[in-house]
Amino acid sequence: MTIQLTKLTKRFGSLTAVDAIDLDVDNGEVLCLLGPSGCGKTTTLRMIAGLEFATEGDVILDGKRVNELAPRERNVAMSFQFYALYPSLSVADNLAYPLHAEGLSPAEIDKRVAQVSSTLQLDGILKRTPGQLAEGEKQRVAVGRSIIRDPNCFLFDEPLSRLDVQLREEMRGEIKEVLQDLSRPTVIVTHDQLEALTMADRIAVMRDGRIEQVDTPHNVFTKPANLFVAGFIGTPQMNLLPATLISGQPDGTAEFAVEGGQTMTIQADPRVAELEPDAKVTLGIRPRNFEITHESVVDGLSTKIDIVEPMGAETLAHLHDGRHDLRVVTDWRVPLTEGDQVHTRFPPGATHIFTEDGEALRS
Ligand code: ATP
Repeated sequence: MTIQLTKLTKRFGSLTAVDAIDLDVDNGEVLCLLGPSGCGKTTTLRMIAGLEFATEGDVILDGKRVNELAPRERNVAMSFQFYALYPSLSVADNLAYPLHAEGLSPAEIDKRVAQVSSTLQLDGILKRTPGQLAEGEKQRVAVGRSIIRDPNCFLFDEPLSRLDVQLREEMRGEIKEVLQDLSRPTVIVTHDQLEALTMADRIAVMRDGRIEQVDTPHNVFTKPANLFVAGFIGTPQMNLLPATLISGQPDGTAEFAVEGGQTMTIQADPRVAELEPDAKVTLGIRPRNFEITHESVVDGLSTKIDIVEPMGAETLAHLHDGRHDLRVVTDWRVPLTEGDQVHTRFPPGATHIFTEDGEALRS
């Protein structure tokens, strides 16, 4: 079973909510659509489900174009959150509930309940009612109920949004495991990057109806394709500094004039040698990749410590180079004093380079 979207487009009047997106989701794959509010995630999901018709392009399920099929004929399971169990029904009856509407035989219903119960380890609690369950157990039952119909694919819209922080953490890991075991393609809509990074096999980062990058969680974080993805994924946000290339060597040694006047020579991507001298770039570095030193260095900027925010095991510091606010996260043991003048190093290989069009350097 697979999901394929080709040039899928949805317009509401003059607004293009989804703009010619191409996307493939494999059997057993969990794909998260991630992006800011209004970028078209839910509309994409609704077009896959058949709740919204495409203006252009195709929805293809298991090789078959389904654009004109009603939701029921597509046999997809779309759920909005893993909650709302019937309080008076036992766990077994809650699980079986969606199957009664399908007119299955009691024997078939029992078989499916047993399968889902075993996958989600619910065997010991099948006779209990929701009121007798711990929160985590309730969630597992709710997941069970949304997967029991054996649909062609699973579509979830912000499934964890109503849960408290602790439950959300528990569920993230659990859901990924369960969904991978089901051998169906799954699409999850979320605006929560942590949710996407932990649950997804691949993430499609969306903005303004378009897909900016589709890649593994690791790659969208370590190799963002452009400035938008770089700024969107990761907390605290990646630092982005406008600069001009002075010289770039094939071994990656590069001298930059950073906006505001300071120059530095850092060990960067060897592809920097392919850029024209004087090229306008944006240098990106994650807050945890900086090194702070009291010695003067050439591979960094002279900065002043503005604000120090202890966060437990780590410290978030806001540094200023005279022009930009730099977010730096260090181990809590690194002594940082507000008002101190320090050097902020860009260690070898830690700097992302984006060209003037906002795209990451590519070979
Ligand atoms: P959110 O997380 O806020 O739901 P989203 O990424 O899921 O955001 P969509 O709900 O897909 O975004 O909406 C994309 C754009 O399409 C938004 O500008 C929204 O206002 C618009 N839109 C969605 N549904 C309709 C509709 N039925 N009629 C008109 N405009 C719509």
